[in-house]
Amino acid sequence: KMNGASDEEPTKVLKSDGQEMGGAWPGQAFSLQVKKVLFHEKSKYQDVLVFESTTYGNVLVLDGIVQATERDEFSYQEMLAHLPMFAHPDPKRVLIIGGGDGGILREVLKHESVEKVTMCEIDEMVIDVAKKFLPGMSCGFSHPKLDLFCGDGFEFLKNHKNEFDVIITDSSDPVGPAESLFGQSYYELLRDALKEDGILSSQGECPWLDMKLISTVIHSARDLFPVAKYAVGSVPTYTSGLMGYILCAKDKVNTGESVWLHLPLIAHLVAFNRKIFPAVTYAQSIVSTYPSGSMGYLICAKNANRDVTTPARTLTAEQIKALNLRFYNSEVHKAAFVLPQFVKNALE
Ligand code: SAM
Repeated sequence: KMNGASDEEPTKVLKSDGQEMGGAWPGQAFSLQVKKVLFHEKSKYQDVLVFESTTYGNVLVLDGIVQATERDEFSYQEMLAHLPMFAHPDPKRVLIIGGGDGGILREVLKHESVEKVTMCEIDEMVIDVAKKFLPGMSCGFSHPKLDLFCGDGFEFLKNHKNEFDVIITDSSDPVGPAESLFGQSYYELLRDALKEDGILSSQGECPWLDMKLISTVIHSARDLFPVAKYAVGSVPTYTSGLMGYILCAKDKVNTGESVWLHLPLIAHLVAFNRKIFPAVTYAQSIVSTYPSGSMGYLICAKNANRDVTTPARTLTAEQIKALNLRFYNSEVHKAAFVLPQFVKNALE
């Protein structure tokens, strides 16, 4: 979601109506039609904009980058929150760094085991506009289990040791106030604030845009944690439509407790003995230059006994190389039929 791979000044592209595009990611842009601007001010930390869109509900934009829309925010919030929460057998104490729109808090509070959620968001203005314009996301801010702090997450962590079962970093991109949340020293603080069997998840940028940055962060995390994994999921309104999630554990996770184990994606994440990097499983096939970044495929067979979801012929690594395949392999084939719940609901 930022142009982390390049040191060059981003190229500005002029559209026919004279507007600037492509600032953060030269050569491409994602756009939404604005129905009405609801709020636009500069806070102490960033430019804060909320607008009503014609097709994605209300939209939160920080420093010109879409953070959340009412229509698709669940795809991001659920993945970032529930990957670590369900990988943990009994999360009681949870810390959220960032997360000012409230969506991660809403998801964390769904876990009955949770006794206390601590949240440290740097920008009070984001919380205020979320309460006013994003009620579906900000619904947890009055919850009695919440301890809310306004301040820098990096500084906050320095005073907390061995305290949390799960820490979720729901940050903006590594420009502006969130810059310090992507370095190795931040991951050291996270490690020390986690209990011995603690798990963390962090906003992991987009592999189509920021692979160099992601690789650096994962390698830093692997120096500090015995388990450091990467997952992806589709978020249509993020540039390139694909979002990454970084998961780390201090100890081995008890995989038997997760209700998500039937999903190949989650199974990969909790199969901690497999030290493969990056561990990437696609819930759907991703094609970054298609609108919303995701492509569906309809496969039919005349023979009722044919299971099209499993390859009849699996490919070896040599065959994949010989065929010069860069996306498809036998695991991707199977994973492509694993659908998010809202798609399953619609197809039932
Ligand atoms: N879903 C979003 C995305 O990645 O597009 C991110 C959500 S947004 C709620 C991220 C939040 O992190 C913002 O509200 C921002 O103010 C907050 N933030 C940025 N830097 C921070 C820091 N150093 N400490 C605490 N919060 C921070």
